[in-house]
Amino acid sequence: MARASLPVDPPMYDPKSFGLTKKQAQLTAKARKLGAEKFAPRADKWDREAIFPMENYKDLHKAGFLGICVPEKHGGIGADYMTYALTAAEIGRYCGTTSLTWNMHVSSCLWTGDLADDLKMTAAQRKSHNRRRAIHYKRIVEDGAIYAQPFSEGGAAAAGAAPFGTTATKTKGGWLINGKKIFASLAGSADYYGVLCTEKKPNLSRRDTMYVAVPGDAEGVSVVGDWDPLGMRGTVSRNLLFDNVFVPDDAALMPKGVYFLAATRWPHMFLTLTPTYMGIAQAAYDFTVKYLRGEAPNTPPVKRRMYPTKQHAIAEMHMKLEQTKAIWFQAIREAGPNPTKEQILRAYTAQYSAMENANELCRLAIRTCGGQSMLKSLPLERLYRDSRCGSLMLPWTAEICVDRLGREALYNPGESDE
Ligand SMILES: Cc1cc2nc3c(=O)[nH]c(=O)nc-3n(C[C@H](O)[C@H](O)[C@H](O)COP(=O)(O)OP(=O)(O)OC[C@H]3O[C@@H](n4cnc5c(N)ncnc54)[C@H](O)[C@@H]3O)c2cc1C
Repeated sequence: MARASLPVDPPMYDPKSFGLTKKQAQLTAKARKLGAEKFAPRADKWDREAIFPMENYKDLHKAGFLGICVPEKHGGIGADYMTYALTAAEIGRYCGTTSLTWNMHVSSCLWTGDLADDLKMTAAQRKSHNRRRAIHYKRIVEDGAIYAQPFSEGGAAAAGAAPFGTTATKTKGGWLINGKKIFASLAGSADYYGVLCTEKKPNLSRRDTMYVAVPGDAEGVSVVGDWDPLGMRGTVSRNLLFDNVFVPDDAALMPKGVYFLAATRWPHMFLTLTPTYMGIAQAAYDFTVKYLRGEAPNTPPVKRRMYPTKQHAIAEMHMKLEQTKAIWFQAIREAGPNPTKEQILRAYTAQYSAMENANELCRLAIRTCGGQSMLKSLPLERLYRDSRCGSLMLPWTAEICVDRLGREALYNPGESDE
């Protein structure tokens, strides 16, 4: 049964204190209202039944949020990277599953939009890209089309260490797609899968990575495997098989080679999984404050705030949350092409901090609030399970961030000890 809606919370980043633009203040406020009134009461349903939050996507469409990163001249909201990230964090406070799957969808607009505009293309490539992305944006803005972003394959490709094993073979008027993707969030619910694959040549190369929109109902596409995970259950991240799936030339979401450029020149593109987990971190803290004050919805009005141990715990949580929010804000503010070494190291640190600290804050919240707080009638146990998933997400898992930070802090590009 859906829970009653929550009162709207104060902003995660106060517009005045953090110098948000008018657009950022408006969009984050709208997301918070939508989250509290619509998404929070439904979040338990997607989690319990492990089903995709389609009802929320209808609301996202109605609010114009499916086109948040579609340029204004194509009928979208025209939000930039930072504005999207701040808005997605507010959604993540109320429903992690919706915020995380929304990220997969929005990436299809951010990568083809602002990111692609920052990258080098020939005049011919730019012309055909502009024509093709207009088709893609129209579907989203007018028809409410939903995009998924399957890139994981279970090998080294999703970590950026090998070419994607899913291939595109040139054929008359288009491409034939073959391969398997694992953990494809929105599987079975997306209208299009934004598939990362490699042009089939005798030797596969990461430079030949292609990004193509495959219709969910195309012949040869199938959704396989079970889905009964620990957390983020509403993402329905099942496996996808592509068996000789024909897509026309216009299905290319980026010209060949541009994804490879983006991954090397615009690395903050991989930081967009974090807003969801920033929202969860904030939600765990908010819940704990309300619970200790005896004000959490669906709980008796018992106050626990007078105990020094509770006060120490909330102080520890507050410090961890503020530290994480500060570095994350700085990292999303400086997202852009060709970042400095310092900015890249900060992006890894922000990614690691968001993913690990979201789970740590949930752990502290449960320990501090106690046994009653982790019953399924309250959101904390779901936040705890959902928060565990962030660090596992490629290409910037917590482990990979630590590997890269250590190496890149000590070695400049091209340096070795030979
Ligand atoms: C809720 C959820 C939703 C997801 N949604 C999507 C989605 O929509 N699209 C999508 O493409 N994927 C998605 N993923 C998949 C995710 O990004 C990872 O690909 C997946 O979790 C990898 O699982 P694995 O155990 O097979 O990883 P493995 O490849 O076995 O890696 C296990 C660990 O080893 C380490 N590792 C792996 N490769 C390297 C390397 N080269 N160098 C150093 N360390 C390495 C990493 O720390 C990694 O966590 C989702 C995952 C989750 C949990």
